[in-house]
Amino acid sequence: MFISRDSVYRVSTLIYLIMTELAKKYCNSLTQYSRYKTREVFVGDLPLGGNNPIRIQSMTTTDTMNTLATVEQSIRMIEAGCEYIRITAPSINEAQNLQNIKNELRKRGYKTPLIADIHFTPNAAELAARIVEKVRVNPGNYADKKKFQTLEYTDAEYESEIERIREKFSPLVKICKEYGTAMRIGTNHGSLSDRIMSHYGDTPHGMVESALEFLRICENLNYHNIVLSMKSSNPQVMVQAYRLLIQQMESEGMNYPLHLGVTEAGDGEDGRIKSSVGIGTLLEDGIGDTIRVSLTEEPELEVPVAISLVNRYNGRENHTPIPSIQESPKDPFAYSRRESFEVAGIGGSTVPKVFADYSEKEIVDQTDLKQVGYSYDPVTDKWNMGDQACDLIYIANYDLHFDAPTGLKVVYDFEKWNSLEDKTKGFPLFPSVDRFNNALTKSFILNFVELNVQSAFSDQLSAIANDEHVVFVLTTNNLHGMAEQRRIFFKLMLQKIKNPVIIKRSYQNDYEDNFRLYSSTDLGALLIEGFGDGVWLTGKDRSDNIFEKSFVNRTSFGILQAARTRISKTEYIACPSCGRTLFDLVEVTNKIRKQTEHLKGVKIAIMGCIVNGPGEMADADFGYVGSGPGKITLYRGKEIVRRNVNSNDAVQELIEIIRENGVWIEPAEI
Ligand code: SF4
Repeated sequence: MFISRDSVYRVSTLIYLIMTELAKKYCNSLTQYSRYKTREVFVGDLPLGGNNPIRIQSMTTTDTMNTLATVEQSIRMIEAGCEYIRITAPSINEAQNLQNIKNELRKRGYKTPLIADIHFTPNAAELAARIVEKVRVNPGNYADKKKFQTLEYTDAEYESEIERIREKFSPLVKICKEYGTAMRIGTNHGSLSDRIMSHYGDTPHGMVESALEFLRICENLNYHNIVLSMKSSNPQVMVQAYRLLIQQMESEGMNYPLHLGVTEAGDGEDGRIKSSVGIGTLLEDGIGDTIRVSLTEEPELEVPVAISLVNRYNGRENHTPIPSIQESPKDPFAYSRRESFEVAGIGGSTVPKVFADYSEKEIVDQTDLKQVGYSYDPVTDKWNMGDQACDLIYIANYDLHFDAPTGLKVVYDFEKWNSLEDKTKGFPLFPSVDRFNNALTKSFILNFVELNVQSAFSDQLSAIANDEHVVFVLTTNNLHGMAEQRRIFFKLMLQKIKNPVIIKRSYQNDYEDNFRLYSSTDLGALLIEGFGDGVWLTGKDRSDNIFEKSFVNRTSFGILQAARTRISKTEYIACPSCGRTLFDLVEVTNKIRKQTEHLKGVKIAIMGCIVNGPGEMADADFGYVGSGPGKITLYRGKEIVRRNVNSNDAVQELIEIIRENGVWIEPAEI
């Protein structure tokens, strides 16, 4: 009997929906922080999972055949705090050279466990498993060569495919068992096998099943020294896949440790924000036993980012209690935006809005707004708006001495607004639900009302609920703030309260880097769940100085973009580079960025090699992929449009392709 791809997908989705309805649980608690406990797995002498701390790891970018360069880079990573070192082994030669690298590191006194990264080459894996402490295999390409074909399987054909995998994969499992070598079964959203794609589609469910096909073989062979990962360059997909994986493991009586990562996150601010949205969301729920932050930068620069993300949870379990709830009223395995009505352009189906906080600045003039996306031309008396122009400014008790640009809403503290002669010039912010309920004057268009956990769980809420002129500004002082704010969203959902909600977070006394990572975690975790009709960030550094407005504004827009809830710029899906990389990724990424960063919403992948690059560039619109020394192959989606272009001409050719596809626009002066 033939089963069509569509019918298989529909049935499996239905079964999954029923299952997830029955068990939406994917962590210990949605309100009380604790680590999700997995089994302990030894990687050399350094275990992970169980009660061990969350381990930090990264991957070398040197040529694995260059022993000295790899050893020296590994040492830089170890000294930065890296606890496991991953090294690519694309063929048997590199796998063999892992021995020299290991010997040299040990000779220099470094005992850090090594991990061989394998794609496509079982013979390299089988050799590496005898040398290093852990091997990483990608179930999407260990036993399969990807042809981007849609295939239809009968049950018997599918079973024989699994049998074929078993034959190819079992020798590696047996070697790992014999040598005490650990293994990561690392699924990548961008490189699912044709079989999985045909059977389950390009879905988090397919990612989970891709790992489980291999995991069940390990279990049958009584091999359990396993770590799992579900990486994607899209944090939404990545988070859903890890949650599904936990749920599925629980239903099959398994509890393997989890390696967290966002692939091809890119570099600089964007890479850090995207990684924090994905990794941080899971860490907030106590999920994750080891992390790697993949940035298109030197690997030792990834390590402090990973450490900052992880260190945030020291002592987290001592947070102020949050009203408990057994289960999310929302499907945690799929994105859907919380339903809200629209109030003056906020909420409903509009994009989430961005606040800029000028409450500390007595006099705001036209030039100040440049930092938040508006430039004023005094000659024409006109405003120009950038792609990242904020939507609202909060000026507390001060006056605005000029007319705000059209479309920019001005928000005052209620008392100040109440004293304005022309109340249509702005909107009030009420400091509490109680204050709003008792106020005699209110805006007949739009009122912002601060909502915290106390008022959300008090009788005051019913009087304001579903007032069609109210937008809530959600605040928290809880150490476990994301969970507290999420709990309030749950409460609003359960009570069918559909006012739009702005998520507000303030960070005091911290470094700029941490502000970026932590705000991305806290806001990103809510946004990828479908919560939030706007964001409002404020922060001060360790010397009590307010962070630059432009930095805070960029961070807000960056978080919305990473959560895929508001696209305001070009997206770069750049691989982190490794020993296979055929060009200088940092330099080329910068070059491409310089020429294309005005192409709002276009996704460009920059991948170091053609072996894995095309498979891993996920849903990019265009791809720039190294295909040989000095040679670049250019893609539109997954289709090759120029093969082996000279690298000197490749960026220009890429622009030509973008132009041919009608997506190019000339950069404008902002
Ligand atoms: S795509 Fe990049 S990181 Fe992945 S194997 Fe190729 S060069 Fe290495």
